[in-house]
Amino acid sequence: MNLNEGNIKMVNIKTNPENCTGCLICQLQCSFQYYKEFNPSKSKIFIIQSEYDTRNIDFADDCKNCGICAEYCAYGALIIDRKGDNKIEN
Ligand code: SF4
Ligand code: SF4
Repeated sequence: MNLNEGNIKMVNIKTNPENCTGCLICQLQCSFQYYKEFNPSKSKIFIIQSEYDTRNIDFADDCKNCGICAEYCAYGALIIDRKGDNKIEN
């Protein structure tokens, strides 16, 4: 994948929050892509810890739908649907 922002294709991302471990790799990769920092607070994806050790997955309004977060999710909590149209689904 070309990491130059101007060349990023938009993808459809499906979320499976029940698979999320809270590792925050997605947040780190997103912040690195757009700010060249491993800084979860600068991510466009947010993993929100909820009760009973479950997590919610949310996206900022300015998410680019680039799919990089999903490329790095090793647990199947973020799935790229290359056949879908360009939006994030829950
Ligand atoms: S969505 Fe995937 S990469 Fe992000 S915190 Fe959950 S398991 Fe980790
Ligand atoms: S799809 Fe959105 S949240 Fe995921 S890496 Fe791209 S900009 Fe960040």
